[in-house]
Amino acid sequence: MMKRLPLVISAILLSVFLLLDAPFAHAGSDKSVSRVAAYWQNLKDDIVQCVLCPRKCILKNGERGFCTVRINKDGTLYTLGYGNPVAVHVDPIEKKPFFHVLPGTNAFSLAVAGCNMRCLFCQNWTISQAKPDEVTAYDMTPQEVVSGAMKSGCPFIVYTYTEPTVFYEYMLDISKLARSKGLRNGMHTCGYINPEPLKEILVYMDAINVDLKGFNEDFYKKMGAFAQLQPVLETLKTIKDNGVWLEITNLIISGQNDSPEEIRRMCQWIKNNLGDEVPLHFSRFIPAFRLQNLPPTPVEKLEEAYTIAKDVGLKYVYIGNVPGSPREDTYCPNCTKLLVGRLGYLIYENNITRGKCKFCNYAIAGIWDDK
Ligand code: SF4
Repeated sequence: MMKRLPLVISAILLSVFLLLDAPFAHAGSDKSVSRVAAYWQNLKDDIVQCVLCPRKCILKNGERGFCTVRINKDGTLYTLGYGNPVAVHVDPIEKKPFFHVLPGTNAFSLAVAGCNMRCLFCQNWTISQAKPDEVTAYDMTPQEVVSGAMKSGCPFIVYTYTEPTVFYEYMLDISKLARSKGLRNGMHTCGYINPEPLKEILVYMDAINVDLKGFNEDFYKKMGAFAQLQPVLETLKTIKDNGVWLEITNLIISGQNDSPEEIRRMCQWIKNNLGDEVPLHFSRFIPAFRLQNLPPTPVEKLEEAYTIAKDVGLKYVYIGNVPGSPREDTYCPNCTKLLVGRLGYLIYENNITRGKCKFCNYAIAGIWDDK
């Protein structure tokens, strides 16, 4: 750890710089931004059903969906989450987390308030559990988002912090424009989206990190307000089948989703269904939202999960939220040498050249450079 001390200081300074460097100011808008939503159907009279995510909310006139972002107005479903991001930041791409995507570059990151889950442990609950028309938000058209990303020198726009599915139309329009300007798109999602809208957005996505919150239905039911695991697994397979770069995050909460058997089953499922090259990030739970009463997950539990995942045969396994851990580095699965050295969001070494280990020429899965 002493050897890493200068790097720790650099990482802290980098975080402060990024905080101060936020390029946009809140516009102070509180107006209701609404436009007709995608993926819904009229059932009868003025009753509609949203089919964007597996909740398939049935809404009478004036009602909002579970996510609070979609509203039935006189028999038409509108989204309240278009053009009004609640958060806009330039972040290191490692923060998403993407560890196999252009290490050391910045991602133009944005979110609209709202979510289609209610995870008791949500780390971003102040914005994910808020209504998009009741928060102070920016006013940003898709054109302004894309030009903001370009001016900031970000090769990626990432839809993150809250749940991008609930601001689907905004994300789709930005993604199309960004792609036409040579930028890439990424999202960090809970994966709770129906297959048809997922396939439409995948055309414009380059990388996706999915939160796989646990590997049993009870956990999803209890922690995510009657959400289900199975649709998330279908999302993971669809992303993989469509050739979009995929990473997975599993937040480990002590005593809740950390049994060795469950973690082994999850890792085996990943290997069997998605392959052994999908990076898996085990993230440490820190008390938040409605689980303030639980302790932070012991680092030994994360180490145990890491060992299980490696034993199952996953090539790229990481531990997150444990500053200074060597488990946040990337090692070559062939020659075992250090490939990407990380300290928090700081990259202090990169030995990947044109997608290959520079020591043994082994191809490393991911999105590296354009050369
Ligand atoms: S996106 Fe929102 S309104 Fe639509 S089904 Fe999901 S929770 Fe319900």
